[in-house]
Amino acid sequence: MIGRQRTILAIAALIIALLGVAGLVLVTQNRQARCAAVPFLTPELLPNAALLPGEQPGMPAGWSAAAPGVELQGSEGKGFDYNNDGRALQLIGIGNFVQTPPIAVRPGASYCFASRALTDSAKRSATRLRLSFDWRDGQNQPLGKNMTDWQHVVRWQPEAQPDDWSAIVGAFDAPAGAATLLVQIQPASDDRVYLDAMHVLRTSDDRPPTTNAQPLPQSVAGGRSSVVIQPWPNGYRAATSFSFDWETAMGGLIHSRSVDDPNASVDWQLRAMRMRQGVTTTLDLFRPYGIRATYYANGYNFLLGNTERRQFMNNPTFAWADHTKSKKWPNDAWTSMPWFANDPYGTVDSDPIWYFGDLIPVLLKARQDIQSHTFSHLDGGLATQQEWLADLQTWRTVASERGVPPARSLAFPWSSSAGMSYADWDALLAAGITSITRTKPGQPQYALASPADPHCRPIPGHERILACPDFYLHSQAVGAYRGGHIARADRRVGPGGELCCPTARLRRALGRAAGGDRRLAASYQPGKNQEPRTKNHAARCRTELCCCQR
Ligand SMILES: [Zn+2]
Repeated sequence: MIGRQRTILAIAALIIALLGVAGLVLVTQNRQARCAAVPFLTPELLPNAALLPGEQPGMPAGWSAAAPGVELQGSEGKGFDYNNDGRALQLIGIGNFVQTPPIAVRPGASYCFASRALTDSAKRSATRLRLSFDWRDGQNQPLGKNMTDWQHVVRWQPEAQPDDWSAIVGAFDAPAGAATLLVQIQPASDDRVYLDAMHVLRTSDDRPPTTNAQPLPQSVAGGRSSVVIQPWPNGYRAATSFSFDWETAMGGLIHSRSVDDPNASVDWQLRAMRMRQGVTTTLDLFRPYGIRATYYANGYNFLLGNTERRQFMNNPTFAWADHTKSKKWPNDAWTSMPWFANDPYGTVDSDPIWYFGDLIPVLLKARQDIQSHTFSHLDGGLATQQEWLADLQTWRTVASERGVPPARSLAFPWSSSAGMSYADWDALLAAGITSITRTKPGQPQYALASPADPHCRPIPGHERILACPDFYLHSQAVGAYRGGHIARADRRVGPGGELCCPTARLRRALGRAAGGDRRLAASYQPGKNQEPRTKNHAARCRTELCCCQR
């Protein structure tokens, strides 16, 4: 009997032990699937995972960033901290990323990166992050990149705090020849993100939480897009697009932040009249070459008047138009005055600087392109998502009343793309916008398109929208065309303000374009080349006529 009891006890103990081992294996697999550490089995591979400060102020030792906007937070109650060690990394800017120190890897082995992330978006938007695994050989030469999908980052708000931070995870196999790995954490908006509890581990999990298993060649991954660009038709090597931020007095002129406007001393009513005359001027210039341009119009450009005293967008007052903020409005007037308060409720005849509706059929007849400069000439980075939605809808309404189809392209007023939230990009996408221009220059953390790299590129996280760089065309820039080069025009002018095109120079530049400079010749049609008219133009070209305005 005693022997039988012992046998039963031994079998029971064995079963319990087996169950325990099976449980441990399951727990281990589960932790590995989440890229969480398993004691004694998965040592931490990420150097300075604790984010200890280095010599560079505000940065952890060994860590780096693409641009300003990444810094240590969490100590002294500043910002957020996931693991209560007093440190977390803040990341700001859609053009930015956080990069880990180099991680030693072995070819063929599988590695995972895990982080916790949270946003306290000033615009009350959740956002997304993506991981990029940048594999390097023993000489630090790139071998290719793996990218994860865009992953949700939960929003923190004081009145409704989330249960937990979001987990951001990616796992990939090191390619042949790999010696080191750099992981980049990339944002999909300008919403502020906090990163903490970052780890890199070996993983045996065979279910990588990503869809992109093969490293992309550096040429593709470095270009940030796997979109294949087809060659230009008919052997063209490039295309040039002429566009105008075209607005009545109800655009940037009456709402100007004129502190940084180099033309602030010019009578705004005179400038509005030039905007009206600019249509005739530019159509005269383009007609001989068959050039079609894009006129980025505000909402009042579509009106023939407003004698019926229509109210638009619920007659908003924009609290963000505050001169104490960094945007430098000259005073606080717009924080208490409705944005459309200056509407004279007249007609194109009585108040021609306020309404350009009579010019819409002129542009349509000339087969010119009319797109959106927003209805209200709002600040894209400061406007709330509700204001964006109302603006996009109202532009569509007034455009359709004049037979203009919904906009597919949008030029940011005042280059105000900095501060766009993930939800703002959602709003643009939902409105059918597929390209944007006039984005924030000069601050790389917000850069979406750069004149230094004159190509359109997909918006991170909203890749169906392309961001295209633009160049101011004004006297100095046109001078630079003489060498056949695209000028970095935006660096030659102060921020904000009206720009005028000395039309004689523009005419000469167009003449050269039509005459064979293929960098500028995409709109030029072979066989339809004509010499610029000289007599009528000569008189007009002595006067500077306004072509474009921020
Ligand atoms: Zn403007």
